[in-house]
Amino acid sequence: MARTTSRALSIAAALATIGLLAPTATAYAGHRAFTPGLPGAGDRYFPDMGNGGYDAQHYSLGLKYDPGTKAIDATARITARATQNLSRFDFDFSGPLKISKLTVDGRTASYTRTGAQELVITPARGVPQGKVFTVDVAYSGVPQSINDPALGLSGWIATHDGAVALSQPFGSATWYPVNDTTHDKATYDFTVTVPKGLKVLANGDPAGEHTQGANTTFRWIDRQPTASELVLMAIGHFDVRDTRTATGLRNITAVDPASVPAGNKTAADDFNKATADVIDWEQKIYGRFPFSTTGGISVLAPNVGYSLETQTRPVYARRSAGALPSATLLSHELGHQWFGDSVTPYVWQHIWLNEGFATYTEWLYDEQHGGETAQQHFDDAYKSASTDWNGKVADPGRDHIFDDLVYTRAGMTLHQLRLAIGDTAFFALVKAWPAQHRYGNDTTAEFTAFAQRYTHKDLRPLFQAWLYTAGKPAL
Ligand SMILES: [Zn+2]
Repeated sequence: MARTTSRALSIAAALATIGLLAPTATAYAGHRAFTPGLPGAGDRYFPDMGNGGYDAQHYSLGLKYDPGTKAIDATARITARATQNLSRFDFDFSGPLKISKLTVDGRTASYTRTGAQELVITPARGVPQGKVFTVDVAYSGVPQSINDPALGLSGWIATHDGAVALSQPFGSATWYPVNDTTHDKATYDFTVTVPKGLKVLANGDPAGEHTQGANTTFRWIDRQPTASELVLMAIGHFDVRDTRTATGLRNITAVDPASVPAGNKTAADDFNKATADVIDWEQKIYGRFPFSTTGGISVLAPNVGYSLETQTRPVYARRSAGALPSATLLSHELGHQWFGDSVTPYVWQHIWLNEGFATYTEWLYDEQHGGETAQQHFDDAYKSASTDWNGKVADPGRDHIFDDLVYTRAGMTLHQLRLAIGDTAFFALVKAWPAQHRYGNDTTAEFTAFAQRYTHKDLRPLFQAWLYTAGKPAL
C-alpha cells in the first residue's frame, strides 16, 4: 500500500509490456543481486523512521497483558511484499522488549538490534522482489514510552489501570515491530487477552470477545489502511457504548470513569451522542466518513494530557477528572479522520495538512453552531500576540511539528484560500481532496496544485506568503 511501491510496480509493468523487462518477476529477480533494504524511509526529519525494500501489508498482533507487572507477552505476524531483491531488511522496534523467536516464512532468521530502533533481520534465503513474505516475532517485557525533549510523550503509556498507545509521530515501535513511516499504511488485526473486567479497544471493528477462566480475549479487525502513528490500543476499565449515528455509522465510544467527575452517570451516553453528532455534521462538510466505524476514548492519563486522532477512534487523554471533551475538540480530532488519517502526510514536514484542516474544522464548527465565524477566528489570530509567526508552515523543522504555526497559521492559510477562491469552490475542494486521496498520502505541492484547479486566480503568491515564508504575511 506504499505509494512508492505501486508506482515502481506500474513502471515495471509498463517496461514489461514494451519488452524491456523479462515477462516474469522471477526471471527478472534472477538477474539481480540481493541487497539490504534501507534502514530509513526518506523522511529527513526522522531519518531512522521506516525502512526500505518492502511494503508492509498486514500486521496481526497478539498480546497478553498483565496489569500486575505491566508486561506484555506478544506475537506479531507481519505480511509484506518485497520491493527489491532483499538480502536483509529492518523493522523499527525500540525499547526493552525481548525477542524470543523470529522466523521469516517459517524459517528461523538471524537478527540484530542496532541504534535506537532498528531490528535488522537476515532471512535464511533472500526474498525475491515481488514476493509476499511473512515475518513472525515472539517477544515480551514491559513496553516503555518515549519522552522526546521537543515532541513529548508517545508510545505505549501506562495508565492508572491499564495502558494506552499514542504513537505520533513515533511510538508504535515501542510495542510491536513495524515499518514506522506514514507512507507504508497497512491493515491490522488485534487479539488481546486481559484479566476479566478490563476492556480492550483498538482501531476498526470489534470481532468478538471471549471469556475463559479468569481472562477475556478481545479481537478487533482494522480493514482500512492505517498509518502506524495512528494505531490504537487502549486497555482499562472502560464504560463502552456501541451505537449508530443518525446516518447509520457504527459509533463505539469508551469512557474511563476516572476521567470524568465521580457520580457522573451519563458520561458514557453523553460522550457517545456528542461524537455521533459531530461526525454526522462533518460528513455533511467533508463527505462520507472514510472508515467502517467511528468513536472515541476518554481516558485518565495524568502524564499525557493531549488528544490524538487514532484512526477511527480518537483518544482524549485527560490529566485529571473533568468535563468530557468539548464539541470543538471532538470536531478537531474527528476532522482528522479525513485530514491526517485517511489522507496522511507522505513525510512529517507536511503535517500542516493535518493540523491546519483540524484547526479549520474547529472554526467551521463554531461558525455553523452559533459561535464565532471563521473570519472572526482568523482576525483574532491575526491580531493576537501569541500567534507564532516564526518558521515556515510547510517546513517547520523536526522539533516544531507540533508548534502553533502548523495549527493556527495553517488554519489561517486555509481561510485565506477560502477567501481567494470563494465558498462554493472551497467547500467543493474540502470534499474532493479527501475523496480523491482516500487512504493515500499527501504533500504540500500536491495540495497547492489541487487547489489551483479551483480558480483562475494565481494562488502562488498566497501560498508563498502563508506556507513558504517565515513572518507575518500582509493582508
Ligand atoms: Zn490535531
